[in-house]
Amino acid sequence: MGRAADLIRELKSKGYKITRQREAILKVLSSDECRLVTAQQIYEEVSKATPGTNFSTVYRNLEVLTQENIVQKIEINRDAAYYELAPDRDHHHHHLICKRCGSIKTTDFCPFEAMKDEDGFTPVEHRFEVYGYCKNCKQ
Ligand SMILES: [Zn+2]
Ligand SMILES: [Zn+2]
Repeated sequence: MGRAADLIRELKSKGYKITRQREAILKVLSSDECRLVTAQQIYEEVSKATPGTNFSTVYRNLEVLTQENIVQKIEINRDAAYYELAPDRDHHHHHLICKRCGSIKTTDFCPFEAMKDEDGFTPVEHRFEVYGYCKNCKQ
């Protein structure tokens, strides 16, 4: 839970109140950093920790956390939005998405690292998603 505690501290320092829902959302997202979860899945897990929570509360909190760059929203195929913790400065990953079953894996491969000085341009963020077929769907 180290990461969740750090993020809670960060939110506090930005003047946000730490509600039980917010804390629960961050715990869900930091429990497995390689997993992408939908708002619905987060809602289900948060409801277990804080019964009586409604979906719109979870959704609004996710929007705030996304705005603050604590959470990253990933839209895949336009019909599904997934959430994960935003990458920290030292480590990030990219996604390998199966076009058939929709499973998502992460990869440490980053084409961005090969990008050298591009005529004075200073990149601040990048996205890289790879679509294909997973091991199970290839046969
Ligand atoms: Zn597949
Ligand atoms: Zn990258």
